[in-house]
Amino acid sequence: MRSEKSLTKHEALKKYWGYETFRPLQEDIIDSVLKGVDTIGLMPTGGGKSLTFQVPGVMGHQGITLVITPIISLMKDQCDALVRKGIKAIYLHSGLTYAEFKRAIEKCVNGNVRFLYVSPERILSKGFLESIKNMEITQIVVDEAHCISQWGYDFRPSFLNIKRLKSILPAVPTLALTASATKEVVNDIAIQLELKDYAIFRKSFRRDNIKYIVRNNENKIEYAITALKRTPGSAIIYVRSRKKTSEVAQYLVSQGISATNYHAGLTIEEKNDKQNKWINNEVRVIVATNAFGMGIDKPDVRLVIHIDVPSSLEEYYQEAGRAGRDGKTSYALLIASNPDKGVMKKRITDMFPDKTHIKYIYEQLGNYLNVPIGGGYNQLYDFNFTLFCKQNNFPLSSTENALKILSRSGYIDYIEEVETQSRIMIIVNKNELYDIPTSNPNLEDIFTTILRQYTGLFADYVNINEQYISYITGYTQQQIYDTLIELSKKHIIHYIPRKRTPYILYTTSREEPKYVLIHRSAYEERRTVIEKRMNAMMQYAFTSTGDSACREKIMLQYFGEDSACECGHCDLCVARKQLNDQNEHYSIKSGILHTLKYTPKTPEEIISTLSYPKKDIINELRNMTRIGAIKFDSDSDTFRISD
Ligand code: ADP
Ligand code: MG
Repeated sequence: MRSEKSLTKHEALKKYWGYETFRPLQEDIIDSVLKGVDTIGLMPTGGGKSLTFQVPGVMGHQGITLVITPIISLMKDQCDALVRKGIKAIYLHSGLTYAEFKRAIEKCVNGNVRFLYVSPERILSKGFLESIKNMEITQIVVDEAHCISQWGYDFRPSFLNIKRLKSILPAVPTLALTASATKEVVNDIAIQLELKDYAIFRKSFRRDNIKYIVRNNENKIEYAITALKRTPGSAIIYVRSRKKTSEVAQYLVSQGISATNYHAGLTIEEKNDKQNKWINNEVRVIVATNAFGMGIDKPDVRLVIHIDVPSSLEEYYQEAGRAGRDGKTSYALLIASNPDKGVMKKRITDMFPDKTHIKYIYEQLGNYLNVPIGGGYNQLYDFNFTLFCKQNNFPLSSTENALKILSRSGYIDYIEEVETQSRIMIIVNKNELYDIPTSNPNLEDIFTTILRQYTGLFADYVNINEQYISYITGYTQQQIYDTLIELSKKHIIHYIPRKRTPYILYTTSREEPKYVLIHRSAYEERRTVIEKRMNAMMQYAFTSTGDSACREKIMLQYFGEDSACECGHCDLCVARKQLNDQNEHYSIKSGILHTLKYTPKTPEEIISTLSYPKKDIINELRNMTRIGAIKFDSDSDTFRISD
């Protein structure tokens, strides 16, 4: 029995988010799930998908919303944001230690946790499926649900684990959310999640304030600078390699344009620093790989430039869509050039290394990680990808792609994005903290500072930052690290140092190479999907004219909006309009010359002879008089052709 009254959805929206009204479709999605109906919500990035499960998640007084989402950093951001509003939210991903994992599960079973975020590969892990039965789960949310689809541009095999979850919680409604909505993806989501009689809500992907422009120009960077000079305000430039981010940023700076760079290889501190400077408009341009932008909500981006052509319209739409969240006119500029066509073809070849080579990599991987044949099932291995490639003389990009194919074939899960912060928790009582026996003269100083700087250390793991501690204590990071290790060895704290290594999870016991099967769905069929996607991107990038050609229309039709009409302000629409105006101008002009060929005529006579709008004819008469093509005789009130 619940004693307190639950909130209505408007009350919840107002209480926790301070908003008065819902955005289009948010309410429809919420109502549908509240009725217990499986639901698919398709909304462009920034459309407000999170609130469609967060609001119902806090309307009642208990119950957990289980959210499956692939991106650890987003998981963390969303949890932090909820916690700041006083809502209990926790997340589970493979970067956590077993002790942390167990604590989190305990809190869900016994505490009043409202949101549990899990990464898809965590679902199958030891104890999770078992303990979920003891939790009161009220809705299952699959965010970034395109990842569940073979057709989705970011397909993750581990997303298929969600099926297992649903079989344990058959009565709980599922909400699948994505900003990628081709027909194939939507169908696949429904099939993979076994959604029956589901409701689907689709918000148009049209963005009226974004002007999509494509320019064909081989001097890409120079052209980008021209665009930056023409369009004031905050900007993002997307490139495809980490190295290029710093090269381009440096060049911009040398040209007097304020710029910084961003990619996944930077440390957390560097990333935060660069991102914050850009968000606070201390830096105007951020030059980034596609690692940048997820979860960033800067309203006043005026220009998003792509110097390299992305591999799909999904990616392009997402990245370009970071412009103009405030609704003001903004530009999405893609700078293509003819050599890009070859570059894109090569990208496909790189993505699908030879099958024998893939098997060879599988073999070497097992040796490298010391996994015995027949062993390894469901085990997680730290994996230093670069070292692995170096030791075996494997090229980076094709090896990475081989691992992805092995992933899709069900042998391993390659989890790249694990970047955890250091954490500590104190595991003794407060009074045991005095007089710690040590020969380390810095220990007391460092430990006292930590106790002063961080709160909640006795209750739970708390993220700490050694660099920051070093900064305020004056000790080196190594000294801080050594001290924490010592405290850890003395069983005073649990210390989990930060980690950037990715993991390999064996999803099948290690096989002998001859039994390794690369299935069509992981290779040939996948290749067809990728080609189709690239072709759509090429069509967008290289269409240059056409009767009803429109960049936005190409994009929207790709996303399944068949009724899409021309936007009227992309480069194709603008070019067509100019051409039409010009043609019309020419035809009025030749019409006038034709009627005046034998006899002079009054303006009224000319207007009645020609079937153009009166005002256009008068304009043209003025224009032709001005340039001396015709003459006006005021005695007879007629125009005639000049001699
Ligand atoms: P998505 O997941 O669809 O990309 P988010 O859920 O991250 O989008 O929401 C994007 C932004 O819109 C957030 O800053 C969010 O607070 C804001 N937002 C969402 N719903 C509303 C609303 N009803 N009123 C005002 N702002 C909203
Ligand atoms: Mg989202």
